[in-house]
Amino acid sequence: MEKYDVLAVGGGIAGSVGAKLAARKNLDTLLIEKKEVPRHKTCSGIQFPYFEDLIGSDIPESELCDNELFKVEMVSPDDEVLNGKMQMLNFWRKPFDHWLNKEAEKAGAVFKDETEMLDFKKYNSGFKVQLDEDGKEKEVKTKYLLGADGGYSPIRRKLRPQDFKDKSEGAAINLYFKGDSGQLDPNTLYMIHKKKYSDWMFSWVYKKDDDWIIGTGAKEAPMETCMKFYEYIQEQYGIEGKIVDKKGFASEQAENVYLGKENLLMTGDAAGLVDLYRGVGMDAAALSARLAAKSFKKAEKSGKPAMNYYQKYMKRIVKQKRKHDKIQKKRYESDERLKKSLSKTNMMKDGLKLLFYSKVVNKLLPTDRMILLPP
Ligand SMILES: Cc1cc2nc3c(=O)[nH]c(=O)nc-3n(C[C@H](O)[C@H](O)[C@H](O)COP(=O)(O)OP(=O)(O)OC[C@H]3O[C@@H](n4cnc5c(N)ncnc54)[C@H](O)[C@@H]3O)c2cc1C
Repeated sequence: MEKYDVLAVGGGIAGSVGAKLAARKNLDTLLIEKKEVPRHKTCSGIQFPYFEDLIGSDIPESELCDNELFKVEMVSPDDEVLNGKMQMLNFWRKPFDHWLNKEAEKAGAVFKDETEMLDFKKYNSGFKVQLDEDGKEKEVKTKYLLGADGGYSPIRRKLRPQDFKDKSEGAAINLYFKGDSGQLDPNTLYMIHKKKYSDWMFSWVYKKDDDWIIGTGAKEAPMETCMKFYEYIQEQYGIEGKIVDKKGFASEQAENVYLGKENLLMTGDAAGLVDLYRGVGMDAAALSARLAAKSFKKAEKSGKPAMNYYQKYMKRIVKQKRKHDKIQKKRYESDERLKKSLSKTNMMKDGLKLLFYSKVVNKLLPTDRMILLPP
């Protein structure tokens, strides 16, 4: 039977980064992805520059979109507009994740796509894991298990079925638009905070190579809401053309964070780290995977469970996520609250805080201790 030190389940951001860093620490590592790669992942593919530190590699230009994003336009419920500058990374998840899979391989991990984790059980202090590899069932042994299997997480479902609802509470949808972009600027990320177009976070518009992405998230009737948002963008910015594709993502997972137990560590979306206040999740996926790899190495040396370390390393991130969940829920309770939180003064304060943390605080901190942005 094949034996590994680390088995990373899921070839997205968390799995690839975790496998890469575990392999770099000389842990015998297997990374599995159930789909054939490159695989689609519904995501806007926007991150802050510190993401390169978090994934532990400089992203080659070939993996980034032709148009850079370096400006932000925030629109408040009262149509107050605030413009700012902010350098961002803009990439398509499909080729990007494939590149990240290969980065893990380059570091020494074994990578297998079309390989699905079917089940696992405890075996001594590690696990016996049942896989479907290219249509054939097999079992492998591993000392440590990295849960990086995304928002639907079969691992978390097995351990914590109570964290999943019977049906999703909404969905995030991206429309892919081609045509005359009117007054839209190709280097700007537009963040529109209007409850009628999204009742849980901002709605967005930005360019990715030849496509414009127009997206939103809503609890009730997400597709209808997204189409209403599209009409608003048509009117507001004078765009003319057609929608060439629509992609959505709905999760039934509860908001709470679950980090795993003993030698099984949960990371990224599977751990519940998507933060609607920050509007991003890839950086949390990368940082949690980085800290999981560090915990596996520590556990290997001490013989103690990896969770002993991971819980400690993740404390600040979990605290930030819980705080943000509370703020986000509260400000989306009513238009009045949302307006107040997005007043020009508050938006400027938040902008300055973001600048300070990205340009000063995170430059001084080691990568493992970086503060997730916006703070
Ligand atoms: C519409 C939308 C827009 C977003 N925009 C942004 C953005 O601009 N910036 C940002 O930072 N975040 C964004 N996010 C969030 C971001 O996509 C996630 O936070 C991120 O993908 C989490 O990475 P992950 O590695 O945890 O999970 P994933 O990227 O979902 O990867 C999990 C992988 O596990 C695989 N898998 C699942 N089960 C198994 C199994 N049994 N065996 C083997 N493999 C398995 C899946 O196929 C998948 O490839 C967005 C999300 C949505 C829905």
